[in-house]
Amino acid sequence: MSLEDMKSYGYKIVDLIAEHWDTIHTKKPFAEPKTRNDLDQIFLQEAPEQPMDSDKVLDFIVENVLPNSTYTSHPKFYSFVPGPSNFISTMADTLATGFNIFSGGWLVSSAAAELEIVTINWLLNMYNFPVKKGGGIFTSGGSMANLTALVTARRLKCGDDFSKAVIYLSDQAHSSNIKAIRILGFKKEQIRIIPTDFEFRIGINKLKNAIAKDKLEGLQPFCFIANAGTTNTGTVDPLHEIADICEDENIWLHVDGAYGGAAILSKKGERMLRGIERADSLTVDPHKWFFQPYEIGCLLVKEASWLSGTFSEKPEYLRDVEGNESEINFYDYGVQLTRRLRALKFYTSIKTYGLERFRNAVTYNIDLTEEVEGYLRKSKVWEVVSPATLAVINFRYHPINENLDESTIDELNQRISKRVMESREAVFVTTILNKQIVLRMCLINPKTTMDDVLETLNTCVRYGAEILEELKAK
Ligand SMILES: *Cc1c(COP(=O)(O)O)cnc(C)c1O
Repeated sequence: MSLEDMKSYGYKIVDLIAEHWDTIHTKKPFAEPKTRNDLDQIFLQEAPEQPMDSDKVLDFIVENVLPNSTYTSHPKFYSFVPGPSNFISTMADTLATGFNIFSGGWLVSSAAAELEIVTINWLLNMYNFPVKKGGGIFTSGGSMANLTALVTARRLKCGDDFSKAVIYLSDQAHSSNIKAIRILGFKKEQIRIIPTDFEFRIGINKLKNAIAKDKLEGLQPFCFIANAGTTNTGTVDPLHEIADICEDENIWLHVDGAYGGAAILSKKGERMLRGIERADSLTVDPHKWFFQPYEIGCLLVKEASWLSGTFSEKPEYLRDVEGNESEINFYDYGVQLTRRLRALKFYTSIKTYGLERFRNAVTYNIDLTEEVEGYLRKSKVWEVVSPATLAVINFRYHPINENLDESTIDELNQRISKRVMESREAVFVTTILNKQIVLRMCLINPKTTMDDVLETLNTCVRYGAEILEELKAK
């Protein structure tokens, strides 16, 4: 391609992205549901032997790929975990791709490694982890960070024989943890899922009993995975109490803060996350509440040598000739050899906006969710099931002047969500708490306003009344 052609092609893409950011609130967040067959009709063909005009290919993508994607950055995307992202990081990511910067070893791209060291240090500081001894690595996401943590924990606590090892987590822990445990080759019998209490926190006595029982049977309790903000309800496990147990029992404490970790930026979040600094390893997920575009997750550890000792595939006695220990080869810290430069977007956005803007955004999210809770509690048709916690709230449509049984309330809420999704005006799905079907809102997008939420809630109330009439008519 000539310079001019490259530029005009590139400008078109930048224009598309900027316009999308400028107009996203006017679009519907939820993509029209399509079947595999629908999309095969559009896309399925053999790889073409002959070239096609680049503009035509791009037009085809603009027409068929972009509108068939759900916009997790949309202010009315309330479900799962939204991906608010930010424009500066989007461009920084484009730059990293454009220069195809290899972020594996110091010798190849020292500045890339330096950026990762510096931004990881920012994060270590944020969580009161030791900056000198501590370390970390950016991963594809929280799942990979959890996997990396558990490989490290297993090596340090069990060495090569993990046949007697037992790992503990609560029934609210994220599924990626179980996935990681299974990938690592643990058997089902080596996993203890500890029930949570009525506030969805791990039952401490149940945990203690499970550990005692396993020790009596000659097993080796080696790792506990604590939640710092569950995905369902934002709940933080009692971290200090858990850390005490782990210290007494010589158990590795991994804290999964993929959802809630970023709340440390706010005063309220900092209070809720007390004790997080006692973790051996901590997952945070910048592509969630640190407003980064996909993909960037992060694992922090108390001692950087735990990672290099686990993931370096070279004899220890060669380390001294390998170069300066402080000049990190990040391929020695995790699974990937060839890695994109994830640190660039994190670095660029924090430098550009300043941490205070991030703190304000996270605080705004937490406050907004509390405001929503206040509104719901005053209403006669809404029932709060799990209070606003780290920007997550669960509630259900349940008019108090109607005498409805549980199964009717479940059906009502399921159908309200279904109708909202059919309208595609908001992404708003249910979850299950205490066997009840409830509506869940996760409000980590700083562009979501109280008006957005009220608009959606009012629509839901209208749907709720309609569906109730239909149910009664039956
Ligand atoms: C999202 C999430 C994960 C998984 O992270 P990905 O970035 O989706 O891989 C793990 N744990 C918790 C608590 C999460 O919310």
